[in-house]
Amino acid sequence: MSDFQYKNGELHCEDVALSRIAKELGTPCYIYSHAALVRNFRAFDSAFQSVPHIVAFAMKSNSNIGLLRLMAKEGSGADIVSGGELYRALKAGVPPSKIVFAGVGKNREEIRYALSTDILMFNVESSAELRAIDEVAAEMGRTARVALRINPDIDPKTHPYISTGLKKSKFGISADRALEEFKLASSLKHIEVVGVHKHIGSQLTDITPFVDALKKVLGLVEALKTQGSNIRYINIGGGLGITYSDEAPPQPHQLAAAIAPLVRDLKCMLIMEPGRVIVGNAGLLMTRVLYNKEGEAKRFVIVDAAMNDLIRPSLYGAYHEIKPVHEATGAKKHQVDVVGPVCESGDFLAKDRAMPDVKPGDLLAVMSAGAYGFVMSSNYNSRPRVPEVLIKGGDIFVLRSRETYEDLVRGEAIPEFLQ
Ligand SMILES: *Cc1c(COP(=O)(O)O)cnc(C)c1O
Repeated sequence: MSDFQYKNGELHCEDVALSRIAKELGTPCYIYSHAALVRNFRAFDSAFQSVPHIVAFAMKSNSNIGLLRLMAKEGSGADIVSGGELYRALKAGVPPSKIVFAGVGKNREEIRYALSTDILMFNVESSAELRAIDEVAAEMGRTARVALRINPDIDPKTHPYISTGLKKSKFGISADRALEEFKLASSLKHIEVVGVHKHIGSQLTDITPFVDALKKVLGLVEALKTQGSNIRYINIGGGLGITYSDEAPPQPHQLAAAIAPLVRDLKCMLIMEPGRVIVGNAGLLMTRVLYNKEGEAKRFVIVDAAMNDLIRPSLYGAYHEIKPVHEATGAKKHQVDVVGPVCESGDFLAKDRAMPDVKPGDLLAVMSAGAYGFVMSSNYNSRPRVPEVLIKGGDIFVLRSRETYEDLVRGEAIPEFLQ
């Protein structure tokens, strides 16, 4: 995370001292580096320059419209999973011709919305969904472009909650059934099958499952061709991992070197859906220490950010490095749990972590929090959601302001008979 460096003993994002952000916007706060976002996007995009391709940023990893606009300006499309994400993508200026729509449960409103805006394609996950899309397209007098999402039954060797390409997973169509589904799709008047799609999971740290899954899908493309298909797009999904602690995931250029030769001669457009690898290490969550607490069996550092702000540690047991914003001087470390104010024992940002001495008021940076951070935050315990800021050089741009107590009750009502 080279755009987050200590200068004169204080952690900076680009040229801005984190304490300045805390002073101006308070804590907790998500902080993203413009330089890191641009560099990560370009590294990915340029790695695949030898093949025609579309990078469709997986916006479920971070869907702030300011950040999406930046992606769109860099040439990115969007991988969406809901009508709400489509709304955000359009609002941010992502061209519909670069939007692909995944997910097992698209409803008819969402399908209608997507067709009306003429997105590039739906990544279809079942025959029931194929029929639903055909019906909605018929009502609208349109033809829907689709890719069949193939479940290649490949173990991505990642956390079970973020594995999506195994037989037991709810995602995709099994390779054995794909030909049948293709026959069905070809018989539907308002469906045009233009691609195949796969996405086997997230935070992958090895190239082999990517390659194995793609080979399986390409085998299928061959078979489909003999059935008269006109497959023009091959979507390899997202999933490339990042370094949270000591993982050594492949770099985008290494992934490209393994993938590009397999697809180069197919005369197809390659689509990729990276999320985490673009934004994960381009953001952090800044929090402030509230109290030190000596429990019977443990020491706790109680901070003002909680599981509702960053749920990855609670949900996946995920590791996030935590750095003091002001560089620690003493060498002494303690084993502590870093916990938040939410009333759940599962509310922690780190467990049994060796941390230098911290005192109330100190700022801490929870690193690698740009992906699946803010987007998964909630108002649990009636905690207003925190701001998001973009740092560019020496400037601070607020991408989202802190919610207020009024925001918390917006849309709620006390029934008339109780008034
Ligand atoms: C989550 C998801 C992605 C992005 O995964 P990352 O690990 O963030 O790159 C891409 N495509 C689909 C279909 C997804 O569900």
